[in-house]
Amino acid sequence: MGTVEIVTIGDEILIGQTVDTNSAWLGENLNSIGLEIRQIRSIPDTREAIIQAMDSVFPSTKLVIVTGGLGPTKDDLTKYTLTDYFGGELEYHPEIFEHIIELFSRFGRKPNDLNKNQAWLPNNAKILKNDRGTASGMIWKKDDRYYVSLPGVPYEMKHLMKEHILPWAKEELVDGHIHHHTILTQGVPESELATMLSDWEENLPSFIKLAYLPSPGMVKLRLTARGTDSEKMEKALEEEASKAESILGDVVYGEDDDRLEIIVGNLLSEQGSTLATAESCTGGQIATMITSVAGSSKYYLGSIVSYANLVKENPLGVTDEALRENGAVSEVVVRQMAEGIHNLTGADYCIATSGIAGPGGGSEEKPVGTVWIALRTPQETFAKRFQFGNKRDTNIRKTSLMALDMLRKSLRGQKVLA
Ligand code: ATP
Ligand code: MG
Repeated sequence: MGTVEIVTIGDEILIGQTVDTNSAWLGENLNSIGLEIRQIRSIPDTREAIIQAMDSVFPSTKLVIVTGGLGPTKDDLTKYTLTDYFGGELEYHPEIFEHIIELFSRFGRKPNDLNKNQAWLPNNAKILKNDRGTASGMIWKKDDRYYVSLPGVPYEMKHLMKEHILPWAKEELVDGHIHHHTILTQGVPESELATMLSDWEENLPSFIKLAYLPSPGMVKLRLTARGTDSEKMEKALEEEASKAESILGDVVYGEDDDRLEIIVGNLLSEQGSTLATAESCTGGQIATMITSVAGSSKYYLGSIVSYANLVKENPLGVTDEALRENGAVSEVVVRQMAEGIHNLTGADYCIATSGIAGPGGGSEEKPVGTVWIALRTPQETFAKRFQFGNKRDTNIRKTSLMALDMLRKSLRGQKVLA
């Protein structure tokens, strides 16, 4: 199988000015077509560093992807350095200059001599015209190894990858076929999932591999099948995935690119129901997630970010007594918040959150990470206490996911509280 190396060029990456998202995107996308990434490096914009990086590629590497340093300015040396390195010379491409003129004309501008330099390209490389920008991509081949140089601007790089490199690499460099199936789970830690799945995992056919990919509040289980008989692999993959899903039951909320906020949105739409939220510790994050989905106005009425007790009392109608006797982070208060947002909006489903996101503000009785979530449905109101960790953003994220997951279970007619 072909292995790949990634080299990102730019001083701004080395000093932390630009986060190297190109490598992460390339790693994910090259891996998903079945290539193994052997190494990722970031190097400065110098001739010496570029030559040294090319000289020190691993012998087994079949493809080197280089991004950055293709701009029109003097500090962009990649094209010149690589052209020399592979023993070529620059030649002028009038059709590329036409393309540059056309791109500039869209903004009512004219290219200058520096821009014209971008139409000078190596005579020993295959040239990839860049519809999204002025810097062309280039592919060299030397001793059975391909070297691809792409612009650093992420959306130009991704466009050239999707349009030219990924389809070609899949044909040319990947042996056999690869299929993925990702199972999305929520609310159960990785170690517990692994225990639940241990018998099933042990009996997986050897051509199927399982990876646990955890992130705050959720774990993705990625099944990858590799082999020559595509149909057989795909069938086995689907069979194994449905076995795992039936073992895990309602812990599974979706698959592949599903998102919880889209799933609950679809369920609300299908059932013609509406949702409203009253958010304290999540500060509107649930509202943000829900409204990130196009068409959410059909089912989402709105939120009150009732951060202070004042706003919990009015307009939500939480009683002064409930707050004094139980504190804001309590079952009584989240239930009243859910009731309050229902009274204000008439929504069929109402979510309320109240918790101590941290890092300060905890007590012995209610340590940082204590969260109460209430879900009011047309039938009843559920409320549950959770104990998350001490990282603020993770607590907010976990609370939001957990609340949406309670809603998902209720809408699917599953047990809301375990
Ligand atoms: P340009 O024509 O813009 O100069 P270029 O090919 O020379 O293109 P760079 O100068 O390296 O590319 O980077 C251009 C832009 O792309 C910069 O804003 C930079 O922050 C961003 N960029 C470059 N490399 C990366 C990377 N590895 N990850 C994310 N962003 C990047
Ligand atoms: Mg540049």
